[in-house]
Amino acid sequence: MRIEQDLKLGFKDVLFRPKRSTLKSRSQVELTRSYTFKHSRREWSGVPIIAANMDSVVTFEMAETLASHNVMTAIHKHYSVEEWATFINKTDTNVLNNVMVSSGTSEADFQKTKQIMALTDDLIFICVDIANGYSEHLVDYVERVRAEFPDKVISAGNVVTGDMVEELILAGADIVKVGIGPGSVCTTRVKTGVGYPQLSAIIECADSAHGLGGMIIGDGGCSCPGDVSKAFGGGADFVMLGGMLAGHQESGGEIIEQDGKQFMKFYGMSSQSAMKKHSGGVAKYRAAEGKTVMLPYKGSVNATIEDIMGGVRSTCTYVGAAKLKELTKRTTFIRVQEQENNVYGKE
Ligand code: 5GP
Repeated sequence: MRIEQDLKLGFKDVLFRPKRSTLKSRSQVELTRSYTFKHSRREWSGVPIIAANMDSVVTFEMAETLASHNVMTAIHKHYSVEEWATFINKTDTNVLNNVMVSSGTSEADFQKTKQIMALTDDLIFICVDIANGYSEHLVDYVERVRAEFPDKVISAGNVVTGDMVEELILAGADIVKVGIGPGSVCTTRVKTGVGYPQLSAIIECADSAHGLGGMIIGDGGCSCPGDVSKAFGGGADFVMLGGMLAGHQESGGEIIEQDGKQFMKFYGMSSQSAMKKHSGGVAKYRAAEGKTVMLPYKGSVNATIEDIMGGVRSTCTYVGAAKLKELTKRTTFIRVQEQENNVYGKE
């Protein structure tokens, strides 16, 4: 047994230190980033925020709406090839360039990914996603996906430490997805005691990825626009959001009325709700590692995504970053023991 004494930080442990700036208005801040990916050599431009591949967050409609803001959507893996075909047939190239096709690591996942990718050349992102990215099996699978799709952008995860980020990039991942346990409907830390504070995971993993010319997605744990900024400030190339984008018209859930108020169900992909829906229940050998919650219904996602982007632009003006690209180098985090003042309740 060993204990690491270095302090590890979550979003709630820090704030940005403001810096002198010549920027007059947040409207001057450019959130679009242009990336060229390590292995695929693909180029992509857009706002590097991604809706999480959870079936109570994203639908094809979510992808269409977010693409109109140049924001990405990771489509969950439970759509059939036929449903993909219908979506592709009515959808313009900009939308398809901004979606990720999710895959687990089974043979069936591999075959299905091949069928979906064969539908059109406009799909360029593949998101290989398992809860525990420390499995050797993931590394083998990423090598196989890279060999099959040399010119597609491959994301792989989830991990939280630099050693595994490097291994996945060397195996063929362009992007590594970072986060174990921070998610809003995740109970991994409670069920297993495993995890890593998300801001430190981002800082350390970004360092490892960038050293090899790779990139990272900070995945999970953002509860407000300020957290999204902190993830970018810590070095995330992309930030993935579940809960912040759940509960909307485009999330696809049923609207449930209770005491005159409207709610929508949101659940983790390893929750009992998800396993019941997709795998006929929780297998005997495993525990559910996700929650099911009811969120107040929030209407269309347009206002929410604009609020998030407005918040990130504003962060940039406070630290003097004219572009999102400059945010990390303009970032000094201060460690704090307080965040917002809740005297009149929570925002
Ligand atoms: P959020 O933005 O809601 O805080 O986090 C979203 C992320 O939580 C997802 O992208 C995914 O990585 C993670 N996640 C989703 N469902 C589950 C689950 O059931 N269990 C765990 N451990 N993590 C989940």
